[in-house]
Amino acid sequence: LDFLGSTDPAIAGLIQQELQRQRDHLELIASENFTSAAVLAAQGSVLTNKYAEGLPGKRYYGGCEFVDKVEQLAIDRIKQLFGAAHANVQPHSGAQANFAVFLTLLEPGDTIMGMDLSHGGHLTHGSPVNVSGKWFKVCHYGVNKETEQLDYEQIRELALQHRPKLLICGYSAYPRIIDFEKFRAIADEVGAYLLADIAHIAGLVATGHHPNPVPYCDVVTTTTHKTLRGPRGGLIMTRDAELGKKLDKAVFPGTQGGPLEHVIAGKAVAFYEALQPAFKEYSGNVIENARAMANQLQKRGLNIVSGGTDNHLMLVDLRSIGMTGKKADQLLGDVNITANKNTVPFDPESPFVTSGIRLGSPAMTTRGMGVAEFTEIANIIADRLLNPESEAVANDCKRRIATLCDRFPLYPHLNIPVPA
Ligand code: PLP
Repeated sequence: LDFLGSTDPAIAGLIQQELQRQRDHLELIASENFTSAAVLAAQGSVLTNKYAEGLPGKRYYGGCEFVDKVEQLAIDRIKQLFGAAHANVQPHSGAQANFAVFLTLLEPGDTIMGMDLSHGGHLTHGSPVNVSGKWFKVCHYGVNKETEQLDYEQIRELALQHRPKLLICGYSAYPRIIDFEKFRAIADEVGAYLLADIAHIAGLVATGHHPNPVPYCDVVTTTTHKTLRGPRGGLIMTRDAELGKKLDKAVFPGTQGGPLEHVIAGKAVAFYEALQPAFKEYSGNVIENARAMANQLQKRGLNIVSGGTDNHLMLVDLRSIGMTGKKADQLLGDVNITANKNTVPFDPESPFVTSGIRLGSPAMTTRGMGVAEFTEIANIIADRLLNPESEAVANDCKRRIATLCDRFPLYPHLNIPVPA
């Protein structure tokens, strides 16, 4: 890392500042995590120099003997983690993985059905600003107004009415367990393919803390950088090897060129880590910590969508305290808490304002924090949001956050020397 500072002090300085920001803030964005130093090392390696269009053993370039082994290890490990028959680890991101699925299973004009963005779905599940919403007819389902949870009968009725070719389950802001078996039954009844996008919950699925969609779904996509705690990226898995081969072609040459073998090496390291007993313990802690935070926020009078959480995230509905998500995001940001404003189901506010914030436990659990610390974090959040005008409270929150961050150091041995 000395080299970086002497070659490009501007970039080295900015990376050092970002490292310091990550160290000094409570990172509560549910989709973020801190990879291990080993993952960082693999991703920052000479593998970035290598072109490797194709698949292990079937490349369009010479000199692939080592990246072949790297990619094969990533494939074997992810198949082992999820019990999949086939895996492609090349998608550059979760969105790219979903795009490859659409290219494989759909023709323009076909109907897809996924959860509405404002209820917790993802842009790639049929939003009008995404290719999924531009090229396909979209029918969205939402959560039940009373329970704020999935309503399988309602989803079934919509599916019977709209007869989608592809039914999508898996979300960006849904705090409850997903019943993949019920989704399979609905898909079978209407003759749809079933895609589970487990971008958020993949780490919890890998350790058995959430049901596994692989046995029930035609295709499973995920990101690798959320609860799975790998480098930024995506992947695709299937229970059927033949469909897997079609998906391989949709990734390359269908939608991508050369795979990022340095990122794939980072993925392989993360999958190795996820196979270890310590990761299972980590996943359990992620859920326990989220639950502790949600419980304490409720005790302090804040409303949690659907009344709690079964996974790593929760949505705080701020309407009962007369605050918008935008305002809460800013108030928390001012005291070094990183979160994001988020729509709540049936939100009267626009996506730029929102009535909620989304909070998650994966990143601070990686730093080693437990139930006591997450209870304290909930108290800090409540103190700040319930006393938005008080400078004394803001200063106290900042002090308590600094204490927590000092007690649980992040990358203690990492330093990016920047020349004066
Ligand atoms: N799918 C879901 C459910 C997500 O939550 C996300 C990211 O937030 C994605 C797909 C897209 O992943 P990426 O940002 O890597 O393209």
